[in-house]
Amino acid sequence: MWNQIAEQISTHTQEKFKLENRRSVGGGCINQCYCLEGQNCNYFLKINSASFADMFAAEALGLKQMYETQTIRVPKPICWGTVDQTAYIVMEWLEFGSSSSETSTEMGRKLAAMHQTKGADKFGWDTNNTIGSTPQINTWTENWADFFAEHRIGYQLRLAKRKGGSFPDTNEVISQVRAILADRQPQPSLVHGDLWSGNAASTVTGEPVILDPATYWGDREVDVAMTELFGGFPAAFYRGYNEVWQLDEGYKQRKTLYNLYHILNHFNLFGGGYGSQASRMLQQILK
Ligand code: ADP
Repeated sequence: MWNQIAEQISTHTQEKFKLENRRSVGGGCINQCYCLEGQNCNYFLKINSASFADMFAAEALGLKQMYETQTIRVPKPICWGTVDQTAYIVMEWLEFGSSSSETSTEMGRKLAAMHQTKGADKFGWDTNNTIGSTPQINTWTENWADFFAEHRIGYQLRLAKRKGGSFPDTNEVISQVRAILADRQPQPSLVHGDLWSGNAASTVTGEPVILDPATYWGDREVDVAMTELFGGFPAAFYRGYNEVWQLDEGYKQRKTLYNLYHILNHFNLFGGGYGSQASRMLQQILK
């Protein structure tokens, strides 16, 4: 398998890559990760069972689209596919270092620049992808309220009920979410989609990087809202973001609704206290 992947790298980069060493990289939530070391350059490899091939293809497409905006740094995807019953994705290797306040400000500025890039007149994406390992439905939809109510909250709520969660009636929640977002008509922005602090880093030279996306065209606020969940980002990040594109009025109210999607997803993936957290958020949103 290793040599076949090295050959694929050579084919796609049109430069001979001879694998000299491989070492495991920790920190991933879902996949096995490696640094593939060659004579002149290294690559980052993720592998999983063959059933994950579509997930990696969608990750590659997301990275490619973000890369092409030439705004915020993401690892450039090189090749992906299946060898010997193993799905894989290879991307450029980035050397990470510690982040400073300047890096955080720059990350905010560059994320806002990515959000400003125009490219779709609807909400959704060309393919479904995954959020964690849960399917994420990206059916193209004209209206943001319909998209978020149905394909984000509705989808996760139905899953959560199948997992035994006790939540209000799904159709009732969907229509209330639609009503809350009725006046929200954002420009479709290319969003990272899973922007918690574990998916943000800085290179050794201080360049901000975002990783491991769940990309689609949506309301830019979903990314900003998620940065406030699970630990949060430094104040410098928000200064940078607002410098380039000020957040809209009402963001603070929408934030809980947007983050409910991720908490429901956490309930679906991990169960436990996420169910009661989701219930509290629903109470706050629907009151
Ligand atoms: P998973 O899909 O399993 O969650 P991640 O994409 O989060 O895996 O990657 C796991 C870890 O590998 C990250 O936390 C980061 O430290 C490191 N990493 C990710 N991408 C790269 C890269 N392009 N170059 C070097 N290290 C990387």
